[in-house]
Amino acid sequence: MKIYRFEHKNVILYGVLRGENLYPVSGSIFEEFRVGERSIPISRVVLLPPVEPTKIVGIGRNYRAHSRELGNPVPQEPLLFLKPPSAVIGPNGVISYPEMSERVDYEGELAVVIKKEARQLSEEVDVEEFILGYACFNDVTARDLQVKDVQFTRAKSFDTFASIGPCIVTGLDPAGLRIKTFLNGKLRQSSSTRNMLFPVSFLIRYVSRIMTLYPGDVITTGTPEGVGPMAPGDRVDVQIEGIGTLSNTVAARDPRGAVLI
Ligand code: MG
Repeated sequence: MKIYRFEHKNVILYGVLRGENLYPVSGSIFEEFRVGERSIPISRVVLLPPVEPTKIVGIGRNYRAHSRELGNPVPQEPLLFLKPPSAVIGPNGVISYPEMSERVDYEGELAVVIKKEARQLSEEVDVEEFILGYACFNDVTARDLQVKDVQFTRAKSFDTFASIGPCIVTGLDPAGLRIKTFLNGKLRQSSSTRNMLFPVSFLIRYVSRIMTLYPGDVITTGTPEGVGPMAPGDRVDVQIEGIGTLSNTVAARDPRGAVLI
């Protein structure tokens, strides 16, 4: 099932996609919900980020080949960082190019959306119960600032640096999905989620031992090799098998440093 969040006639709704139509749901997508009978063509709505997380937990260097391409050692346990909810944008949203940075990279990733509160999950617990579904994610990163600052907060946290969408897909096996990123239509990243060092179930248990995860929180599971810079005016597409394509553009910057949207 593909769950979209969207605006239609100034109302924000959740809906399930069937064919080219969205069927609005009543109730919470995190609990029980009912799919309505009336539908709206997807072409007539404005798509929004599919979740409003209280936090986004990023996993660094979760693909061996990506660790190597940036000259980093392969981590022995998950490397965590946070992205703020203020950075979230959705499908077709515009990524701002911050004045402080001269190198802003795309990172195509698989995002996990949490379904219910998860705290201190043990090995015996079925992690599936805590997963609502999966989405594409672009973990936009100011690479020059990440190197300069050593820790990741500034580099990962600019407004618009957390693109998620286009929808949440339920019932998906995250173990062997093709993941691709295109820059201006050219293939830049191509891998499989089977190449993750730490799989989804391990990551959820691990993070839950550090911080409580709430419904709608997002864990973004790391990027494969092939990261690179985006320029103002570029278009970037993150495509994951079984989910779809998350498309964004990068805002143009005028010579005085202001961002033109
Ligand atoms: Mg990343």
